[in-house]
Amino acid sequence: MTQLVRAVRCRIYVIGKKLLVVVAAAGVMSAVATCTTERRAEAKRAPAYDLNKDLEARKKEARKLLGKRTRFRVVQKVFLVAGAPSMGRRFFRRSVSLTKRATYAYFNKRFAKRPAKAVSVYLFGNKYAYKKFCRKHHGGCGTPYGVYYHSPRRIVMNASPGLGTLTHELVHPIVETDFPNAPSWLNEGIASLFEYPYIPRKGEIHGLTNWRLPQLRRALRTRAGRRRASLGNLFSMSDRDFRGAYEGLYYSMSRYLAQWLDSKKMLWKFYQRWRDNYATDKSGAKAFKAVVGKTPAQANREWVRWVKRLR
Ligand SMILES: [Zn+2]
Repeated sequence: MTQLVRAVRCRIYVIGKKLLVVVAAAGVMSAVATCTTERRAEAKRAPAYDLNKDLEARKKEARKLLGKRTRFRVVQKVFLVAGAPSMGRRFFRRSVSLTKRATYAYFNKRFAKRPAKAVSVYLFGNKYAYKKFCRKHHGGCGTPYGVYYHSPRRIVMNASPGLGTLTHELVHPIVETDFPNAPSWLNEGIASLFEYPYIPRKGEIHGLTNWRLPQLRRALRTRAGRRRASLGNLFSMSDRDFRGAYEGLYYSMSRYLAQWLDSKKMLWKFYQRWRDNYATDKSGAKAFKAVVGKTPAQANREWVRWVKRLR
């Protein structure tokens, strides 16, 4: 019975006023009263999220952590770009401009939802300042380029080797909101595609062939490597496997799958179809078949041929 009352309360909470009437007619008024009280208490416990307040608080925090001479710009209403003093004014402007152009294209018929909450983007002008910050506040960087820290919603990056990491890392908080169930391989594959972005015109973005290709090509030379680097394997890969011993290869595979699909104008159809039908298509294989016309295993040969021809 307790279970039933709990279930009733839960449904009231989700469905709202219409169901309240139905439940009252069924004679469980006490459950209705408890539910209303619970809803009020919950509203008190979790105040509504205030984006402007959060942006202000993040600005204050960044000034405290990076220094008084930190530069700021808000892009797409949610990304607070903060240029540490180690970054010159011109470089900061260039980074803001790229953030604007890339995110404009990301939200132009590609991703549907912006992050619901603000995201801080900390940019450092050299590896020393970047490493010092990561060590002090995040226990180390893990990579010389940049990282997205999920819980504080903060991107931290060393801009000196180039801005490709910026366009990569920006994808992560977006996917987190737009397709929260996306497996790591898809999230990283799309993010990695844009680490060498090509923006031919406003609202359009593609990824050019980059340094991740040789690793994939090397794998395709051996039988064991070909088995690992096959689309059938990628589509059945858990996040744990993706982050395992062959992580570098799997980044490369998912990246070049994204580039291949994009070259055929199929990437976003596939992504959106999978996202919108995730409940009945957990692996993405159905969305792939519907868009490409072949299963991942059947498409493997064509994809490998394309990878080998890439320049
Ligand atoms: Zn990434």
